[in-house]
Amino acid sequence: MKNEFDYLIIGQGLAGSILGYTLLEKGKKVMVLDEPKLQNCSKIAAGICNPITGRNLVRTWKSNQLFPFLNDFYPKLEKQFNRNFFFQIPIYRPFQTLEQQQDWSVQENKETEEVIYPKNKSTSNFEKNINDPLGGLLIKNGGHLRTDIFLEAIKNYLIEKNAYQKELFDFDKLILNENKVVYQDIQANHIIFCRGAADQTNPFFHKLPLAPAKGEILHIDFDRNEETVRKLNQIILNKGCWLVPFDDKLIENNLNNKVSASEKEIITTFRTGSTYNHKDLSLESTEEAKQEIETKLQAVLNLDYQIIKQEVGIRPSTRTRYPLMGTHKDYPQMSIFNGFGAKGVSMIPYFANEFIEYLFTGKELEKIVRIDKWLNK
Ligand SMILES: Cc1cc2nc3c(=O)[nH]c(=O)nc-3n(C[C@H](O)[C@H](O)[C@H](O)COP(=O)(O)OP(=O)(O)OC[C@H]3O[C@@H](n4cnc5c(N)ncnc54)[C@H](O)[C@@H]3O)c2cc1C
Repeated sequence: MKNEFDYLIIGQGLAGSILGYTLLEKGKKVMVLDEPKLQNCSKIAAGICNPITGRNLVRTWKSNQLFPFLNDFYPKLEKQFNRNFFFQIPIYRPFQTLEQQQDWSVQENKETEEVIYPKNKSTSNFEKNINDPLGGLLIKNGGHLRTDIFLEAIKNYLIEKNAYQKELFDFDKLILNENKVVYQDIQANHIIFCRGAADQTNPFFHKLPLAPAKGEILHIDFDRNEETVRKLNQIILNKGCWLVPFDDKLIENNLNNKVSASEKEIITTFRTGSTYNHKDLSLESTEEAKQEIETKLQAVLNLDYQIIKQEVGIRPSTRTRYPLMGTHKDYPQMSIFNGFGAKGVSMIPYFANEFIEYLFTGKELEKIVRIDKWLNK
């Protein structure tokens, strides 16, 4: 007797987790297979979602849809799981150049909704230690997700629903029957690949323009007594590199159901990074990456710190810079949901919903994310 499911999902990074969760909430029978020993870039991601990005400080693609969606989605799950993993804190983006500052002033009126401070200010916002002589933007509507805690919470939810199995998926064991898939003792109506960068070698989807990019980050620790550290607790600093508070007591607090940290507690540990490398896709951390991150950090911050550890992940980036999703042209029981590059936290909740509507009703996905043109090549 086979165990029967509507959807078999391969991979429990952010893509497989959010897709699996959303399908279960919509009443479908789901099984997620994942091998936690493989690289999972979701776990080490900084988790930042930022509606205004790039050198030109423009609204990120689809921010009008993505940000209302995620600002509803993550807090809803925090309540459901009684865990604290989403932090809606502003992103402070000091201007890099006079040109950038002036360009911003020209666009300013278009972007006011996201920018809370300092609308017309063009001088330093921090009295010391942060190098922002030209002032900068304080961007709201974004924040950061503690991806490690989020993924663990979703995994527990999947386990509770009998929807998770630790398993190294092997293509040789996959049997495609007419309109069904069979994998060992599992039979499903549909299989969805969410293996991140590993899907570059997926035998069914290898024609897709996945272009994985290695990223390295540092965990660092500051002196508790520094006034600047208190200020850095309230923002995500982003100039050349980013610096995100990373509360190492949060897991413990969550387990004790102490959902919000005491206001007196100052976070001294931070994540900072990251690098972007398409050539070296090894999982080894490198001295070059460490130096690159430190150089950028020291250019924006004049504070002593200690490096606690260095981590590596491989982003599922694409040559098009847009995600990739859809059903295989020859196998209607097989799909992929992937290619979220460096923006999985902001894109995946919205696109999981769009993708599910496509699966359920056939509603067309927008052209730029569709896979048909690549598979037809
Ligand atoms: C240094 C760094 C910083 C980042 N910072 C941010 C950020 O600030 N904001 C942001 O939005 N994004 C960030 N990202 C990008 C973000 O991590 C990705 O967009 C997102 O996590 C991709 O999720 P995914 O589920 O597609 O892939 P992954 O997280 O890589 O998950 C793939 C899963 O598939 C599983 N898998 C693969 N093959 C198999 C198999 N054969 N059998 C079973 N399981 C398998 C793996 O174990 C893994 O769990 C960052 C990435 C890096 C590397």
